[in-house]
Amino acid sequence: MHLARFNPVRFAHLPTPLEPLPRLTEALAGSPGGGPMVWIKRDDATGLAGGGNKTRKLEYLLGDALANDATVLVTQGAVQSNHVRQTAAAAARFGLGCEVILEHRTGSEAHDYNRSGNVLLDELLGARIRTVPGGTDMNQALAEVAAEVAERGERPYVIPGGGSNIIGALGYAECALELVNQANELGLEVDRIVTATGSAGTHAGLVAGLAVMGADIPVLGIGVRAPKDVQEANVFRLAQDTADLLGHRDRVTRDMVVANTDYVGEGYGLIDQAVIDALTLAARTDGILLDPVYSGKAMKGLIDLARKGEFDGETVVFLHTGGAQGLFGYQTELEGRMG
Ligand SMILES: *Cc1c(COP(=O)(O)O)cnc(C)c1O
Repeated sequence: MHLARFNPVRFAHLPTPLEPLPRLTEALAGSPGGGPMVWIKRDDATGLAGGGNKTRKLEYLLGDALANDATVLVTQGAVQSNHVRQTAAAAARFGLGCEVILEHRTGSEAHDYNRSGNVLLDELLGARIRTVPGGTDMNQALAEVAAEVAERGERPYVIPGGGSNIIGALGYAECALELVNQANELGLEVDRIVTATGSAGTHAGLVAGLAVMGADIPVLGIGVRAPKDVQEANVFRLAQDTADLLGHRDRVTRDMVVANTDYVGEGYGLIDQAVIDALTLAARTDGILLDPVYSGKAMKGLIDLARKGEFDGETVVFLHTGGAQGLFGYQTELEGRMG
């Protein structure tokens, strides 16, 4: 898998650590089969204004934007989007403008949700923000803003929500390569990779990278929004297209794409007590800060499945996709509920 031919620009702090989580492992050892050994891949530590999974994608997307002489990045996300924060930081890093559209997807009126967390950081990083109602056609909104930017005589570069297209997904094909190399060096046999799956680029990039390498490590995506059939179809399509870009489309097969969407709860960006319990368990066992929307929901799934014996005897790598900056957007919801 030869990724240099896609000319990423380099700013991420890589490789991210691959570390054991001994106290979380102990906390999950109660299942009759002894539970899993849990390791963590620290993609919350990719750098760039707090880091997270969008940083790897942005290395490839910025490479493409700069090759196209872009002057303004245009992107979209939910109000507390980590992707938008990281894109705003990448724009600042390369002296580009940044226009973002925030979709009012959760309907929350809370001050901290609308003003703190990632939103505060977007402003600090100099992004120009517009907010639109939930359910807006975001692809059309992106096209409109791009047209406006072009009218001003600038050169827009549109990054889809989550940076999830074949270019962005290359960042996670690279992560797959990095993880397998680390596991080989450590002599660590990985039985499963568990990750949050949303706009699909992370999950699809991992599947594509592993398949093209022939690494045979199953990936379990824990859904945060869409139902299982929709999520798996989105991931499969993007994984195939990413593998195609790498010259090996046929190496990705449908059975490689598995999403469990039983842990979405009431909907995207909406949290329940089980998410808060997952946040507190990760924080209080191994000092890991997860986020309420993605990595906390993925951990909620990992914990429940581990307790049901799903991972007994396995070495599971939890991909920490970041997002802790969003915690402050959920302050009033978290206060008093953390035990
Ligand atoms: C965007 C995001 C995800 C989901 O990644 P996708 O590539 O959109 O599926 C997971 N975790 C965090 C913290 C994110 O910001």
